[in-house]
Amino acid sequence: MSQYDDTPKRTTFEQQAEAEALFTSIGDGAISTDEFGRITRVNPVAQEIIGYTEAELLGQWFPKIITALTMDTKVVNLIDRPITKAFLTGKPIYEKMIYRRKSGESVPVSIVVSPILLDGKPLGAVEVFRDITLEEEIDRMKSEFISLASHQLRTPLSAIKTYSHMLIDGYMGDITPAQKKSLRTIISGANRMNELISTLLNITRIESGTIAVTPKVIDVDSVIDEIVKEVSMMAADKAVEVVAKESPKPVTIRTDLLIFKEIVTNLVTNGVKYTPEGGSVIVQAKKRSADLLVTVSDTGWGIPKQSQDQIFSKFFRAPNIVRRETTGTGLGLYLVKGLVETLGGKIWFKSEEGKGTKFYLSIKPLKKQPAAKPKGEVPQP
Ligand code: ADP
Repeated sequence: MSQYDDTPKRTTFEQQAEAEALFTSIGDGAISTDEFGRITRVNPVAQEIIGYTEAELLGQWFPKIITALTMDTKVVNLIDRPITKAFLTGKPIYEKMIYRRKSGESVPVSIVVSPILLDGKPLGAVEVFRDITLEEEIDRMKSEFISLASHQLRTPLSAIKTYSHMLIDGYMGDITPAQKKSLRTIISGANRMNELISTLLNITRIESGTIAVTPKVIDVDSVIDEIVKEVSMMAADKAVEVVAKESPKPVTIRTDLLIFKEIVTNLVTNGVKYTPEGGSVIVQAKKRSADLLVTVSDTGWGIPKQSQDQIFSKFFRAPNIVRRETTGTGLGLYLVKGLVETLGGKIWFKSEEGKGTKFYLSIKPLKKQPAAKPKGEVPQP
């Protein structure tokens, strides 16, 4: 503190009273615990959200009295509770979860838990949480709207595509080279719009948990060959070589063909899109003891270090790409991540700006019958 600092000094009692007033007046729910997770303070908003009184909560072990569920209604284990993670990591933890109220009803909450540390040792934690029922409802309505609007856009779009193809193929009489050029632009615009609609529909399916998974044994190399052909055809006017590296042994896996194709197609398309002329994109699949590893590497512009942890976020596009390539939505990798998680897999990448990027996709075989997703009622412990 500087000698000019005229902030009045507080006694310990005054500081406690100040902390108490601050705690009580926070507009979100707030609960503090000791180092064992026992509740030491609760503010009125917290009592309102979870439906317990202060007397019922004080001294109770927080994870025991308040059951938490993931957003898809699976009970959260003690080790995965934000408060435990905050104790273990010594860092603030941000999460969305469902809390079960005293009445048994569930309430979605956005949580931030900060550990209280003294000389690196945890003294307890403060959890601040907010009821997000309304936000979740708006999000659901937004997804429903996108889904409805996308379905409605498909019909007129297919008319545009059909008639443009008929015109360009000469079914309606001869056309001039200038007309042909314009029609090509119309068709490529319609194709882009079609892709965007599919992406939006897939995202709403993932976000609402209604995406269908149909496990079937697939021949990975031939699926990759097909993808490479399709992407090469689409990018015929760009001098980027797309190569499928044959696996040493035939590779098969039980997975969902359409979802797998969508994931790899997105990665290969990005590879081509973000690689300058003369470069290459290589796709390879390798069966390992516990999983299938698919890699897609390119010699492109790469992902800047400071953008790497945002690359799977919705609408994110890295600044080095936005400067060069105007078309894009930043939805592709967000969708890919959701699809990979739907298959129970993992995706990560290594990238160096100016050198290239390598994406890694790891998936395990799915069981014959996909596990039914728990829906609706919140399970009781
Ligand atoms: P879009 O391609 O529509 O921008 P994506 O979600 O597919 O959206 O990708 C998000 C961003 O990630 C891209 O805008 C780009 O900045 C970066 N990116 C993805 N793949 C690559 C790649 N192979 N090389 C370089 N940057 C990439």
